[in-house]
Amino acid sequence: ENILDVIDLHYSYPDGTHALKGVNMEIKKGQTTAILGGNGAGKSTLFLNLNGILRPTSGRINFDRKPVDYSREGLNKLRQAIGIVFQDPDSQLFSASVYQDVSFGAMNMKLPEEEVRKRVDTAMKRTGIYHLKDKPTHNLSFGQKKRVAIAGILVMEPQVLVLDEPTAGLDPMGVSELMKLLQETQDELGLTIIISTHDIDIVPLYCDRVYVMDEGKIIMEGTPKQVFSEK
Ligand code: ADP
Ligand code: ADP
Repeated sequence: ENILDVIDLHYSYPDGTHALKGVNMEIKKGQTTAILGGNGAGKSTLFLNLNGILRPTSGRINFDRKPVDYSREGLNKLRQAIGIVFQDPDSQLFSASVYQDVSFGAMNMKLPEEEVRKRVDTAMKRTGIYHLKDKPTHNLSFGQKKRVAIAGILVMEPQVLVLDEPTAGLDPMGVSELMKLLQETQDELGLTIIISTHDIDIVPLYCDRVYVMDEGKIIMEGTPKQVFSEK
């Protein structure tokens, strides 16, 4: 069952840069999809369209088989349902402590205090940062900050977790630990995961489906086996 359908999506930035040129994708519920492509291929632009931060110039995105609702209320729901973890954790973290950073999204949802606390504890334990909860985020290592950013998205209980280059800047141990953590979270929550990556090695290990982008277009798609045997 598809959780996201991207249909002939075009996006041009205000300066005229045509960043997405007719992208079609089907994202299946509970799967991990990798988006490969060099710098400037359009991966980040695609992600920003997926959760409504950018609005398609033409074409369409269906979430749960319904066209995205671009009203304020619709967008609030969409941004909670499709959480994005950006490449640079510092862009997402700005509170005094890890606990506060992780709780931010849940607080914004105006959930009862008890529910916030429960979700924050669960997300911190899942991502292995519970012992850091009272530490100032800015003192943590890069890998730890990544986990704080992921926990901060998980507290919103998204259906889709989108990660922009999640393994960039991590050593090989860090990469496999992070990917395993994501896989466990997915298994437990039935989460759909979309990652962009340069790290081809992780794709056959952790991904069900691959799209390769170049200059705003999908140039290859399939299972990792299909895509890598075409090369
Ligand atoms: P990727 O994430 O694959 O590196 P991007 O989506 O960031 O690719 O970029 C796709 C294209 O859009 C590139 O040509 C890039 O220069 C351009 N682009 C990205 N952001 C902007 C922006 N804010 N304004 C104008 N052009 C942009
Ligand atoms: P440093 O490189 O300064 O040692 P790290 O964050 O890489 O900092 O490592 C600190 C601890 O946190 C390690 O024990 C490592 O297992 C864990 N860790 C940190 N970041 C990650 C990550 N992204 N994935 C898996 N484990 C991580």
